[in-house]
Amino acid sequence: MSDGYKILEKDLLDDFLAMVQIDSPSRDERGMADWLTEKLRSLGCEVEEDNAGATVDGNAGNLRVFLKGNTDADPLLFSAHMDTVEPSRGVDPVVEDGIVRSKGETILAADDKAGLACIVQLARLAQAQPDVPRPDLEFSIHICEEVGLLGAKTVDTSKFRSKVGFVLDDEDVKKVNVGSPGAVRLNYTVFGKASHAGVAPEKGISALKVAAEVLAKMNFGRIDDETTANVGRIEGGTASNVVTEKVTMKAEARSHNPDKLKAQVDHMNACFEEVCKEWQQKTKHLWEGTDEGPLPSWKLDQADDYAPVKFSEDDYAVKLPMAAGKTLGWDMATKISGGGTDGSILTHEGIPCVVLGVGMRDIHSTKENIAVSDLNDAARLMSAIVTMHANSGVA
Ligand SMILES: [Zn+2]
Repeated sequence: MSDGYKILEKDLLDDFLAMVQIDSPSRDERGMADWLTEKLRSLGCEVEEDNAGATVDGNAGNLRVFLKGNTDADPLLFSAHMDTVEPSRGVDPVVEDGIVRSKGETILAADDKAGLACIVQLARLAQAQPDVPRPDLEFSIHICEEVGLLGAKTVDTSKFRSKVGFVLDDEDVKKVNVGSPGAVRLNYTVFGKASHAGVAPEKGISALKVAAEVLAKMNFGRIDDETTANVGRIEGGTASNVVTEKVTMKAEARSHNPDKLKAQVDHMNACFEEVCKEWQQKTKHLWEGTDEGPLPSWKLDQADDYAPVKFSEDDYAVKLPMAAGKTLGWDMATKISGGGTDGSILTHEGIPCVVLGVGMRDIHSTKENIAVSDLNDAARLMSAIVTMHANSGVA
């Protein structure tokens, strides 16, 4: 087995610092896409941009990147996202005592420019150390991860040949993410009947009161160790002197187990159904014989956000990074995540993708930071994965 790559630490940090200074909030990734396209092409990659930007009303698409290998091992895919959460404009990075932070007014954007820096590093290593064995590499670089995995959802996975991949978008470098929940968004509407609250309250049906009874009945929060649910927003009514005609509620449910996810959604729906049925008996005289139909009533708009993912320790996508970490002398461990990632989408679109950490900390806050040593370790792990796979051959 070859000795493998020697990380280019200075280039890695320079690339990272250059990228965090390019503004790229979701739907405004143009500058980041242009920088990466130019950089990766100069390092010998083929780069194509898809038209996802038009689909999501943004100004850049996903990048599809190919880098020719020097062995006949199966290709490997790496993925990261270009967009960031706010406040992210004008990031001014400071490196102090081996830690990179923003000056405190913005996030740092290590999420996910640390992942992008590792991808650029793989291309740099292929050019700088061409004799180290490597498979063909494919990079899928996405827009709009932070606003609902929108970029990943439009990726045409048939354009890739990899049978396994890695999404570089998590914290701890020594933990391999083997499972993420499935999630559904549930937008409920409760319909009542408006009436003057002082003159004729008995002619109205308060959608607000119905909604309150539904909420009192509903289990949400932590349901079990695999399942959570939440009602996060409730809105309705017009004025204090009007019986509330309509209430909308934004809710979600997540579970690592598809059956439990379905059971939770069924339970939430049943709460609306039961409460409305009871009320319809009491308020028959207000709607029977009219064209308003049974009142109160309810409606659900459901969107499946992403499906659950579960890898076994025997899957190559898990075994490869675990073994690669071991060659670096590390104790590797597995973990389960509480949210969906671009990996959930790519996995269900046919390329099993495990999520790996790249050292980012306190993400989505102005305290976000990354240790330079962790960024180096992340690049070390990715390059060890490439070398080990090139030497073993088949996914
Ligand atoms: Zn991220």
